[in-house]
Amino acid sequence: MDRMQGLEDLLDLQAVDTEIDRLLIERQSLPALELYRAAHHHLTRLTADRDRVTAELRQATLDLDRVSGEFDLAEARVTTEQNRLYAGGLSARDADYMRREVEMLKNQQRDREEGVLMLMERKDELTAAQQALESEIAAAADVKDGHQAVIAAAWQDIDGRLAARESRKAEIVPLIAADLLDLYEQLRPTMDDGVAAARLGDGVCGACHLRLSPAEQAGALRSDPPRCIHCQAILVP
Ligand SMILES: [Zn+2]
Repeated sequence: MDRMQGLEDLLDLQAVDTEIDRLLIERQSLPALELYRAAHHHLTRLTADRDRVTAELRQATLDLDRVSGEFDLAEARVTTEQNRLYAGGLSARDADYMRREVEMLKNQQRDREEGVLMLMERKDELTAAQQALESEIAAAADVKDGHQAVIAAAWQDIDGRLAARESRKAEIVPLIAADLLDLYEQLRPTMDDGVAAARLGDGVCGACHLRLSPAEQAGALRSDPPRCIHCQAILVP
């Protein structure tokens, strides 16, 4: 395998790997992802609010049913006692006792009625709040779906480009000597932006952009493969 050609192929591989890295970063840093996460949190919060309001509404409905039931029972009792008073035939003492009891029951009923009205108001408020939250949830779900569609489309595009780069990479890799490829793969994770192979142009390393003196260049080119004395990148003359 021609040594210079191997280095040129390595440079091609580096270009493809750099594009793959860039696409992977682009895939994970789409602005729509941030928007999607925000929309998801918003929707989660709204759903929790809706569930809380729904539970409160259920409780208010139970309370209203109970208090209304108590009111109806007590009302029937007031009517019965009143009817007994109207029917007469009671001793003055019993009649007085009953009159006062009816009076007390009526006072209790006024308090109950107030309670019923308050619970009805509470139920109306909660019903309105629940409906408002349902509308907000529907709108937030639409927003989230919108971001999801943008992400899906962008990812489909990026994945298509990634697949093209991967198949190009599969063509290049077999052209490169195994030991050179091993060195490149070992270096890549340690290098800035994953640049492990770079052109040496006008005495400047294409990876770290530092200059090599003529003596340093000559020294670098004597080793196989040539390496940058500054960043250790594999240099391609
Ligand atoms: Zn360098």
